[in-house]
Amino acid sequence: KFLVPKGYARLLSDFEDFYTRRLYSRIRDCWSRPVCSAPGAYIDVMLRDVINYGEELRINGKTKRCLNLGSYNYLGYADVPGGVDDQVLRVLDLYGVSPCGTPNDTGYTDVHARLESLVAEFLNRPAALVMGMGFATNSQIIPSLVGPGCLILSDELNHASIVVGARASGAKIKIFRHNNPVDLEKQLRLAIAEGQPRTHRPWKKILIIVEGIYSMEGEICPLAEIVELKKKYKAYLFLDEAHSIGALGHSGRGVPEYWNIPHSEVDILMGTFTKSFGAVGGYIAGSLELIEHLRNSAPGCLYSSSMSCVCAQHILFALEQIMGRDNTHIGQQKIVRLRENAIMFRRRLIELGIQVYGDPGSPVIPIMLYPPAKIAAFSRECLARGLAVVVVGFPATPLLLSRARICLSAAHTPEDLEFALHVIEEVAELIQIKYNNKKMIEM
Ligand code: PMP
Repeated sequence: KFLVPKGYARLLSDFEDFYTRRLYSRIRDCWSRPVCSAPGAYIDVMLRDVINYGEELRINGKTKRCLNLGSYNYLGYADVPGGVDDQVLRVLDLYGVSPCGTPNDTGYTDVHARLESLVAEFLNRPAALVMGMGFATNSQIIPSLVGPGCLILSDELNHASIVVGARASGAKIKIFRHNNPVDLEKQLRLAIAEGQPRTHRPWKKILIIVEGIYSMEGEICPLAEIVELKKKYKAYLFLDEAHSIGALGHSGRGVPEYWNIPHSEVDILMGTFTKSFGAVGGYIAGSLELIEHLRNSAPGCLYSSSMSCVCAQHILFALEQIMGRDNTHIGQQKIVRLRENAIMFRRRLIELGIQVYGDPGSPVIPIMLYPPAKIAAFSRECLARGLAVVVVGFPATPLLLSRARICLSAAHTPEDLEFALHVIEEVAELIQIKYNNKKMIEM
């Protein structure tokens, strides 16, 4: 259930087509702005001629240093203080930038092997595989898990990469209401009673797919209830931890650790390296049989070049710190700092009278702007004051649920966050996004 201003409730369902026709050309200015630095606590953002909203946006070449609340740099590994780790530079010298081959031929190196075994160890699972892109990990792996005659139960807010993978699989897809185990059970029961289309035979396999933290809502998945249901209905569970791995749980081991549930309760643990590890790529962790099956059958594993070794080594560097293998407490301190930053920032935004979605421990904090007209204004006014934010609108959100998605980082200092709160308060007053709680209704 979401809080929305009363007057918007009906519009939410009625006017999407009408309003969205020209939306993108008007607010394109907020997206795809070139960044000219590492996505650390601060970024250099390229300034454009913001007067012209049409096709011909002119890049004037100037940059502005901004506090960065936009990048998914949860643990601050996107910009390592003191420069890139020596081992990463050594790997760049020895292996070059690209492995120039697929994992089944020359593209699999000892760096990949070490990374896969460390990921498996981190998640306390027998095996893991890594791929060069998080999106491809979902879209390529799901079709190798289920196919025609199988059933997928997918949370309605699952990421596009899951949607693409689910559709490509040929399995029957049923959507259940976001983070709602009661609706999940209702859908499971109905689907099991009906069986496969036409033949009414039992489903060959049932796969439930959920995310750890939902990236547009900042909400954490109720894993215990979902694990219970998957057991009760003999289904498999696929958990996408793109935003929760590294960021949740006292040692960064994600949603299972956050809810104190053994990782072995989740059949397919998926995650990306783009967020907490400051790198790119994705992983799957699970049983030996699962990983062997995927290595030998998923087209994205068989026919796509492996992750860059440089990237794999950077992830190893981050993961070793997170696991305390470097004999320092740096990784653990980052996890604690991120949690403190997230809890404090959310609380202070609420105290300012700003509507935010999501759960307290989540480093993703959506600030609700509601009508699309506020999107460009919020982004531009923040930028003018030295704050880089990501704004999101339709079709990534329902039309009247536009928002700014704040991503906090362990790299943000208390002073950085005070500055950000000051700017947000000023902009919120200016563009009027403080909504009175008494005038909100639940949708
Ligand atoms: N899963 C989720 C939940 C995501 O939010 C994303 C992207 N942000 C992906 C998968 C794709 O990951 P990547 O950007 O690393 O390709």
